[in-house]
Amino acid sequence: LFKNVTKLPNDALFAIKARLDVDTRPNKVGLGIGAYRDNNGKPWILPSVRKAEKIIQSDPEYNHEYSNISGLDALRKHAARILFGDSFDCAKRVVNVQSLSGTGALHVSAKLLQSLGLNNRDVYFSDPTWNNHYQIFGKCDFKASKTYPYWNPANKQLDLQGFLTTIASAEEGSLFVLHPCAHNPTGLDPTEEQWTQILNAIKQKNHLVLFDSAYQGFATGSLSKDAYSIRLAINDILKDYPVLVCQSFAKNVGMYGERVGCVHLVLPESGYTKEDQDALQSQLNAVIRSECSTTPAYGAKIVATILSNDDLYKQWSEDMITMSSRIIEMRHKLVAKLKELNTPGNWDHIATQVGMFSYTGLTVEQVERMEKEHAVYLAPSGRASIAGLNDGNVEHVAKAIDEVVRF
Ligand code: PMP
Repeated sequence: LFKNVTKLPNDALFAIKARLDVDTRPNKVGLGIGAYRDNNGKPWILPSVRKAEKIIQSDPEYNHEYSNISGLDALRKHAARILFGDSFDCAKRVVNVQSLSGTGALHVSAKLLQSLGLNNRDVYFSDPTWNNHYQIFGKCDFKASKTYPYWNPANKQLDLQGFLTTIASAEEGSLFVLHPCAHNPTGLDPTEEQWTQILNAIKQKNHLVLFDSAYQGFATGSLSKDAYSIRLAINDILKDYPVLVCQSFAKNVGMYGERVGCVHLVLPESGYTKEDQDALQSQLNAVIRSECSTTPAYGAKIVATILSNDDLYKQWSEDMITMSSRIIEMRHKLVAKLKELNTPGNWDHIATQVGMFSYTGLTVEQVERMEKEHAVYLAPSGRASIAGLNDGNVEHVAKAIDEVVRF
């Protein structure tokens, strides 16, 4: 028992963080893990979060009791509202549970599909995607994990034709995992027109869509704009189909470690009864009960307070602008420095990509040299978390890129 067990490789991104943490070079820069940093390179507690914590802790009823199996009701209600919009009939069309952040939401979705016998289908991820997608769905015995073309390295644009062709040739009823905004790792999102084409092609083949919404508010700073693709699906193109939506509050509320999220199953506009909803709710609850019994309450109370209080909601909207606009500014500053240095190649894509990441185009070897020779850490794929840049390190990073590209 427990002998000759296979040693699995360390998680690539957390391994970068471990190396960064022990690096003693004073000019080290972490562009690996996607976590927002302020202009001093420090984690940022959002002002809206600080205010919500004060409100929660001064409540005479404040305690650390268990939450419900399905999670905090106020969180589920308001979380659905910000994704689907104020006018969406959530009572009629949504069943949901709170989850362990976005990862837990994906896992609960996969488990739900597995427990309903709906994992007998292929699951398609963008090429490239967040690597954990493979592990999460792989553990729930889907027929096979496959990819759809997404990033075209030749022109650094969306490979729309490849994407559409794969949708059309995939076996009917496959599961398509889509990033609704701020695609990780490429920072490249489809245009509104492209979303129409993608969702129509998906509809043609009766595929099931799962939106993995980990960055709402990070692409444009606006929750509704960043939910465009989801709303287009549920209100229009896929309104007669069920749609799964996994939601993380790690990034947009800056509550990475508190694990706040939800998974929503959006039902077709017609044909589903209250009994169907109750049955689906019971299935979601059963997954939660066996996985973690109840989900963490503290972070959920903070997020629910922000979403339900007008003043805090306004503050949070400003906080998201603070984060997204600082990232945009850093994109432009990095490109401007590279232009100043006359770095070979075109770097404009760093400025046009959106969200937390840039797919820089640096090769594995160049990334290795960035780390070894310049103490700049990024993912081997060349993905850089732009949130790790600030006024104090952007020049150093530009010079490091210039040097590894040039020599
Ligand atoms: N999906 C994507 C695409 C992500 O990038 C992330 C975070 N890296 C997640 C889901 C889940 O993150 P979390 O579990 O921290 O909410």
